[in-house]
Amino acid sequence: MFFNSTLSPLPFPRLLAVLALMLSLSLCPVSAQQQTTEQVLEQQLDQYLLLLRDDVAAADLFLQEVFNRYYLEAQTDFPLTSRVRLMSYQATALLYQQQQLQADALLTELLALTAQTDSADALSEIYATEIEFIFYQRELSAAVLKADRLELVVEHALIPRVRYYVHNLLGELFKADNQYERALQHLTRALDAVIATDDQFTLRRRFYLNFSIAHVYADLKKWPETKSLAEELIADAKKYQFEKELPPLYLLLGFVVAEQQDLESAVAINKLGIAAAKTAANSSIELTFENNLGSIYIDQKKYTEAKAVLQEAAARAKALDDDYNGQIMEYNLGYIEVMEGQHSAGLDRMLTALAYFKNNDTKAHYEPLLEALAEAYAEAGEYQQQAETLQQQLALRAEILTAEREKSVAELQNRYDTKAKSQLITILEQENNLKAQLLDNQKLQQQLTALFALVLIFAAILLYQLYRKVRQSNRKLREANKKLEYQSLRDPLTGLFNRRALQEHMQRRSKFGRRQRDNIAHANGFLLLDIDYFKKINDSHGHAAGDEVLQQLSARLTKVCREEDLVIRWGGEEFLLYLDNIVPEQVAGFCQRILEVIASEPVLAEDKMIPVSASGGFIHLPFAGIDETELNWERALQIADMALYLSKVNGRNQVYAITGLRCDYEAARQPLTDDLQGAIRQNMVDYITIKGPALPR
Ligand code: GH3
Ligand code: MG
Ligand code: MG
Repeated sequence: MFFNSTLSPLPFPRLLAVLALMLSLSLCPVSAQQQTTEQVLEQQLDQYLLLLRDDVAAADLFLQEVFNRYYLEAQTDFPLTSRVRLMSYQATALLYQQQQLQADALLTELLALTAQTDSADALSEIYATEIEFIFYQRELSAAVLKADRLELVVEHALIPRVRYYVHNLLGELFKADNQYERALQHLTRALDAVIATDDQFTLRRRFYLNFSIAHVYADLKKWPETKSLAEELIADAKKYQFEKELPPLYLLLGFVVAEQQDLESAVAINKLGIAAAKTAANSSIELTFENNLGSIYIDQKKYTEAKAVLQEAAARAKALDDDYNGQIMEYNLGYIEVMEGQHSAGLDRMLTALAYFKNNDTKAHYEPLLEALAEAYAEAGEYQQQAETLQQQLALRAEILTAEREKSVAELQNRYDTKAKSQLITILEQENNLKAQLLDNQKLQQQLTALFALVLIFAAILLYQLYRKVRQSNRKLREANKKLEYQSLRDPLTGLFNRRALQEHMQRRSKFGRRQRDNIAHANGFLLLDIDYFKKINDSHGHAAGDEVLQQLSARLTKVCREEDLVIRWGGEEFLLYLDNIVPEQVAGFCQRILEVIASEPVLAEDKMIPVSASGGFIHLPFAGIDETELNWERALQIADMALYLSKVNGRNQVYAITGLRCDYEAARQPLTDDLQGAIRQNMVDYITIKGPALPR
């Protein structure tokens, strides 16, 4: 039968507002003496909600005034939650007043506030307001998509008014989206928020929420739960004189028991509903009850009772100009006529009503009506028509199903697209963040690298300077050492080697191997020289001139000698030439050259030309093939000194060169150093004399 279970729809956001009022009233008990502006604002917003219950237009005017008075102030003086509450109420009020532009502008402002706060209460109220806007525009998918974020944020909200508002909104949203379980969860949490504030309003608030929950139970086809909750609510409505709420409650309860096939109870409840609707002066719901009651009687085949109720209802519908309900009654009455045997009149009546619905109602509402028509044709024995009607119904059902499937596929597609789009945006945002982060890291890395390079450069400069200093000081040290060494081995006046230098050289020489005895070709030699009559030079030209003579002669000697020879200042005006390599045949020539370099040109000292000559003694080392352990360099020098002495006593400006032995060394040893003249006389030694140049007189 055509059973109408339509519940009178509640304007839910306004309903939420009323509930929110009771919460906030109980939550903000302020002492009259010391009220801050913020408390006054909160109170006035509460008052707005109170007004909203009775007179929407007056309430909106009142809110506009409050908004004008506090909006600018709220930007600076109030906590963000109060500011958000004021703006959210005004935005929603504008929305319901169809002032879309102003409403949207205020919502945009609200959404901008999300960047300024971490307060879960403020964020929850802002996000919820946005969802309420979207929901209002019937963009269910978009609203559901936004719900995820709100669900996360509201977990941390503390103000019960906010928690209640958000959970109730989400409950209604998911109910509309047929996500009944999720809706139930939110409604239950809204109920928790309400119960947390136990006061004189709690019962009424709980009443409204339970009413919503009962509807969700019905949608979930949880009949026992729906029934017991509806009965509880009816008891409460009676107890607290919520007369207005009784008819819809009876409607719900009647619907449930009819679904449970408890027709007797359904009859009783519909009768109670009719009475309650009369009390509440709600004619349209009264018609619904009457039609439902008639339908039940028809199911029970109590046609007389059914006719009585339906005829009265049809008359009332006509009086109310309610064509729709009037035609429902006509259809049901036509059915009864067929069942009572007036086949053709009843069928005509049914077909007329059906034509109305075909033109004025959706296919989905029209299609179930055909079932009753098919039954009526069967009752009238018109089986051909019955079959056609059933086929028509089947075709219509298939059409509706296809349309519904297409619609739900399109809806799914739409939802998928929206979600994909929002995810794409999230991904792009994340990518941007990542890029920015990478850039930052890169910058940091570059800065670090630059800094490191700078440090390295500084360190390198420092190290280099240090290195240079070390090198410099090393060089200075080396130079100083060299100088020291030079000084210790040199004679300061002439720059020639000194005695010490010879000693060191001879030590080195013995270390690295003496000349072989038979290797005469590579013999060393000593030429000891002493300037003749030097005392006289000092005496006649002065000591300084004498010094200069010594210096100039040093230079001349150095020039004549080879690199590997040593030119040594042996004493005051004595020089020693150590010759690295002098064969016997060269001795005469060499000595000659020395005598000439000294004496052939006078020395220019202190502007005076000073003639100079020298006498010398020469000896080889090793001498006469005698091992140096027998005749060492010191002893060889003693012999050279003896030869020098011979040069002096035998006329000066000449060199005595002792070149060999004519006897056993053992025999010659003593005379060689003590009496060289005697040894020569006894024919023990070979010697030659080299005369210097003729001296200018
Ligand atoms: P001779 O050798 O020919 O027998 O006569 P001599 O005048 O050279 O005699 P002797 O060797 O005894 O004298 C050397 C003198 O040389 C003694 C000293 O006053 C002088 N004399 C020594 N060292 C220096 C010096 O560094 N500078 C100067 N101007 N004279 C020095
Ligand atoms: Mg002398
Ligand atoms: Mg002398």
